[in-house]
Amino acid sequence: MKVIVLNCGSSSIKYQLFDTDGPKVIAKGLVEKIGMNGSRIRHEKQNGKEDVVFEGEILDHQSGIEYMLGILISKKHGCIKSFNEIDAIGHRVVHGGEKFNSSVLITSEVIAMLEECISLAPLHNPPNLSGIYAMKNLLPHVPQVGAFDTAFHQTMPDYAYLYALPYSLYKQHGIRRYGFHGTSHKFVMQQACSFLGLAPEQSRIITCHMGNGGSITAILNGQSVDTSMGMTPVEGLVMGTRCGDLDPGILPYLMQREELNINTANTLINKHSGLIGISGVSSDMREVTAAAKNGNERASLALNMFYYRIRKYIGAYTAVMGGVDVIVFTGGIGENSTLARAEIMKDFEFLGVDFDPAKNEQARGETALISTPSSRVKVLVVPTNEELVIARDTAAIVRQLNKS
Ligand code: AMP
Repeated sequence: MKVIVLNCGSSSIKYQLFDTDGPKVIAKGLVEKIGMNGSRIRHEKQNGKEDVVFEGEILDHQSGIEYMLGILISKKHGCIKSFNEIDAIGHRVVHGGEKFNSSVLITSEVIAMLEECISLAPLHNPPNLSGIYAMKNLLPHVPQVGAFDTAFHQTMPDYAYLYALPYSLYKQHGIRRYGFHGTSHKFVMQQACSFLGLAPEQSRIITCHMGNGGSITAILNGQSVDTSMGMTPVEGLVMGTRCGDLDPGILPYLMQREELNINTANTLINKHSGLIGISGVSSDMREVTAAAKNGNERASLALNMFYYRIRKYIGAYTAVMGGVDVIVFTGGIGENSTLARAEIMKDFEFLGVDFDPAKNEQARGETALISTPSSRVKVLVVPTNEELVIARDTAAIVRQLNKS
């Protein structure tokens, strides 16, 4: 089955065309700078062997998707003969609130529910919906499926997902923890289980998704029981530009002392904090690490804070699950930074981790064990692939639809 997977952001669209029977990626690319000067599409095919850039005015998501579809069927750069070859479309949707605990076929009712979720993710859900509306206009007969970042975490118990604010605020405004990166946490947990020959329903796994954004999840018997991101993706770990956990009293204090308005306060915790805020160097882990190696003390401090926060969560989630069997690293930092993995795993022998530094240095590009074979707690690096999960979910839902 041929499935297009779309990840629509505010000014960009990542796309991948999958043949889910392989599974293999037929083509992929990125529509950039939508509605800005310099908008363009970077289109890759044949595993990146061919990389073409198309420049031109792209005013909105619909015109970006129209342009991208034109490339997919073009004689010179295309990979399909006609749109009839496209069997389904899968969308990454950031916030599904409490309404969705798995991927769903997008119907008018689902769209109405997604519109209701906009207030929970005002930056993310509108572009996701733009992609859905655009595809509805451009390929009206092709079924669409939504896969939610929040869905996997819907199994968290109430005592883990509630904030200790007045209960009425939860009922009235949906103030609670939802968690994000669910597609990634679920995928790497399943990969880890199949790699180790473990049954997910009899396992205690901690998955550390460390990228520009980061979150960590406690997965007990295959289900998310706690995760570090909350109602929004600012809570939890120290991230590239986000602060993570914070005393909530700091915000009103700063808003008063610095006369910050709501937008500035929001920008402060989302864009000027985390690695960039502490180091003053960069939000990019590679650059912060390089600066620390060159003796920049604030870069070293940022790294120490980054590692420490994750170690703290690993301890907490081990307690939550009554132990841990597997710790998984994923995301740009988790998959590539041997230093971050080694620093985070330091002195965890008391937990049953026998870390293998040599294997850690070698792990790259594929699932790898970085603890010794006899380590009671297995430590793995697992490359994430959220697009593949969305493509698989989409194919399964559409196959079912075709049967009925
Ligand atoms: P992601 O958001 O998953 O694409 O991850 C982006 C983050 O991964 C950035 O902070 C990058 O600096 C980091 N990253 C990518 N490659 C490496 C590497 N080889 N070593 C350290 N960090 C890396």
